[in-house]
Amino acid sequence: MLIPILTCAMTSPNILLIHVDDLGWQDTAVAMTGQATAQNEAWRTPHISQLAADGLVLTSGYASAPVCTPSRVSLMTGQTPARHHTTFWTLHHDQDTSGKHPRIAPPNWNTRGLQPSATNLPELLRAQGYRTIHAGKAHFGAHGTPGSNPKHLGFDVNIAGHASGAPSSYLGTHNFSHAGRTGTENTSVWDVPGLKQYHGKDIFLTEALAERACEEIDRAAADGVPFFMNFAPYAVHTPVMANERLLPPYLDLPKREAAYATMVESVDNAVGDLLERLNANGLEEDTIVIFTSDNGGVSGRAGRPANRNAPLRSGKSAAYEGGTRVPWIVRWPGVTDPTTRSDVPIVTHDLYPTLLAAAGVQYPTGHSIDGVNIKSIFEMSTPPPRTIGWNQPHQVNATGPGIEPFTSIRHGKWKVIVFHDGPRIELYDLNADIGESKNLATSNPDVAEGMLKRLRNWTSHTNAQLSIDTSTGQSIAIP
Ligand code: CA
Repeated sequence: MLIPILTCAMTSPNILLIHVDDLGWQDTAVAMTGQATAQNEAWRTPHISQLAADGLVLTSGYASAPVCTPSRVSLMTGQTPARHHTTFWTLHHDQDTSGKHPRIAPPNWNTRGLQPSATNLPELLRAQGYRTIHAGKAHFGAHGTPGSNPKHLGFDVNIAGHASGAPSSYLGTHNFSHAGRTGTENTSVWDVPGLKQYHGKDIFLTEALAERACEEIDRAAADGVPFFMNFAPYAVHTPVMANERLLPPYLDLPKREAAYATMVESVDNAVGDLLERLNANGLEEDTIVIFTSDNGGVSGRAGRPANRNAPLRSGKSAAYEGGTRVPWIVRWPGVTDPTTRSDVPIVTHDLYPTLLAAAGVQYPTGHSIDGVNIKSIFEMSTPPPRTIGWNQPHQVNATGPGIEPFTSIRHGKWKVIVFHDGPRIELYDLNADIGESKNLATSNPDVAEGMLKRLRNWTSHTNAQLSIDTSTGQSIAIP
């Protein structure tokens, strides 16, 4: 039931969060390094580039985790995964999706994922009079729990979101289902719910989501209510499937890369559709637009070439920058200026306090928040260095550089990684070595010790759970 409320433009700004899945730091035409790389030049993302030109590009923007669910739960809670303990991706409520490691095991982590709470971001915004809209991949809470349904987590509207983190198919002609894709009658946990009006139609999943999301923008505008939209396309997560209509410009690429490029372009088209719809409703000046990704781009596996996040090292699931550094663009009327860039580090869970403050919502009492209001960072000429950490005490069923259980922090230009097996320490100067190629832990023992002290403080402060040494049954200790 709608309660009509009076809204003055920026006292209740609309919020359009475009939270793409698995989109890498180099997966758009936006030059994150300052100069266009060959990767940047391979993509056709004019709408994302325009958004970047109209706003602030944050070149040291991070995801809260190197995989899906932990980052998504961090968005909704303002907490690092180290604190909320959903440190890995979820599927079924009692399923540990971790891989097996010969010497260490995961701690007793939260396999249920996010559950209903008055402190969830959309719940707080809804209480402030916002219409809260989720579109696309949710992957907040596991199957078999209330959190599997975004409507139980604070969203008024749920378009095609549930507990699974990938679609059976991107094609409407497949009904976005396993049965449609394989010509069988078998259902699958990956079948996309809802969207029945598109079944049998020649439409790509991202297009269907954008069409439904645009309708919701129109509806909110017509009803005169502020909205928070979490537009989270299933793209560009596997399965890598081509949007055939977009293929022609990419036919010189290897087949799988060409298909991937069409998935990226489908996201760009959705961005264009959503921004156009804001304009059509006269909401451009009343809407904060944020574009980012839930973890780094897949690299060196799932048929993808290695070093595709270069100059960053490795990709999704990894401790290295390719796992967590992601595209970040903010267009905030009255706050950000066009064509601006910042290398101040920020992270997904910063959105929680940032958006609550923007909406005039008091932070909930008794709820720890690890994020900081990035508007206050923008307003400082020289923000002091802060500590941002990551904790993934899980073996991954994938191999690649830095894909193993770890805890890490960045503070200023320094990053220290503790790989739990050993444990082993790596130290990098990200200003001099963004590709994390020179481990300075031995040559800079004082810096290493200072960073390890910060890391120990951070794990203690956040109540982080580390891996279990299976020979002793005890948690491993940070050196
Ligand atoms: Ca993801």
